Amino acid sequence: MDASLKNRTVKGEGSRIVGISGILSVPDKPNIPYIEGDGIGPEVVRAAIRVLDAAVEGAYGTRRRLNWVEAYAGEKARREYGEALPEETLKTIQEHVVALKGPLETPIAEGYRSLNVALRQRLDLYACVRPVKYIPSAPSRLKHPEELDLVIFRENTEDVYSGIEFEEGSEEARRLIDFLRKELRSEVRPDSAIGIKPISEYATKRIVRAAIDYAIRNNRRSVTIVHKGNIMKYTEGGFMKWAYEVANTEFKDKIVTESELKPEGPYRGVAPPGKIIIRDRLADNMFQQLILRTGEYDVLVLPNLNGDYISDLAAAMAGGLGLAPGANINFETGVAVFEPTHGTAPAYANQDKVNPTSTILSGVLMLRHIGWKEAADKVEKAVARTISQRRVTYDLARQLEGVQPIGTSKFADAIIENMQVI
Ligand code: NAP
Repeated sequence: MDASLKNRTVKGEGSRIVGISGILSVPDKPNIPYIEGDGIGPEVVRAAIRVLDAAVEGAYGTRRRLNWVEAYAGEKARREYGEALPEETLKTIQEHVVALKGPLETPIAEGYRSLNVALRQRLDLYACVRPVKYIPSAPSRLKHPEELDLVIFRENTEDVYSGIEFEEGSEEARRLIDFLRKELRSEVRPDSAIGIKPISEYATKRIVRAAIDYAIRNNRRSVTIVHKGNIMKYTEGGFMKWAYEVANTEFKDKIVTESELKPEGPYRGVAPPGKIIIRDRLADNMFQQLILRTGEYDVLVLPNLNGDYISDLAAAMAGGLGLAPGANINFETGVAVFEPTHGTAPAYANQDKVNPTSTILSGVLMLRHIGWKEAADKVEKAVARTISQRRVTYDLARQLEGVQPIGTSKFADAIIENMQVI
């Protein structure tokens, strides 16, 4: 048993993944910490684990296995440890490099700050990576959903995630309002709550570097920088400025900017083959562009809040939050936590009802991260086949004519059954 998990049950005899400078060394039976999460978390995580185990067995027989190790956060951690995010959980993930996580609840307008934010910040998982690719035969409101193939890179540590906020009427808010008026000649209404939105050159450059690097390694066509720099000149505008700086100084031979593609520019309007097009769009425009000119967008890189909004829009375009996987990654260390884009959907908890695909596909991202491509491919094909058979959960069934939904666990069974014939 792993020494860091002294009081915890470790199923089987796994060993640790080792990450050195982002390169992972993966044993055949790696320990994979998982957090069940709150609300619908346990149901979708259970389903995902069953599907991933079946895929690994189907792809590698007994040679490889994922050795799941439970790590605690949220309500279950409160019961087990008396705190919602125990130090042991953070340490376990850090030591094992890769983890799967269900959603965690965050109270609204009161209470503690988000555990999800704390986890991402403490492990410095600065890149929230959310691929959104249409699964053929999934229901979609788009006329041409097959054009949808995005990878969203959302900055994960700053902007609203910095968590600097003071309540209306608090001593801190009052002092800040005073300071703004006296020292900076900026008027704020005295009954205001105050939030601070830092966006740094350092954090911007590393998320943009990760996005462009991803685009190059995966033969993507473009990287679009999404921001609101017309209004927030120095935060959102800074994001755009630093993003172009990274592109132009670190990737000059691999990219071409949209402005260089003007008919009167050096390339006379035609992108040289193999070069990634770098461009920017204002966030408000980006929302309508995504719907109306879906196929023109590829990799997107955004500050935290815009990235959050656009992730759910893109998920809806692909059929809904039940189909939207995600990863929180530090590309320098390789430490990564894979989790669905959706939250705890408390109204559906313990009903064996919701769609586990987001968590299953987050597991696929995890398998790819550790280099287990054959198992990842198996899951993807089986999910697509199951949806094409119209064996789907309520969220997809209600968008299809005459389809009776099946529950979370039956849907996982159907995926596993389909794996046998792939
Ligand atoms: P949510 O949990 O994502 O649910 C919003 C809606 O999305 C659901 O009512 C449902 O829509 C649909 N949905 C979500 N997951 C689904 C699934 N697996 N299958 C099918 N449909 C699904 O968002 P929320 O209600 O705004 O947030 C609830 C809690 O989750 C909050 O405490 C929030 O802070 C937290 N949260 C956590 C994370 C995280 O842990 N990373 C992320 C986001 C939110 P219909 O009712 O229309 O079917």
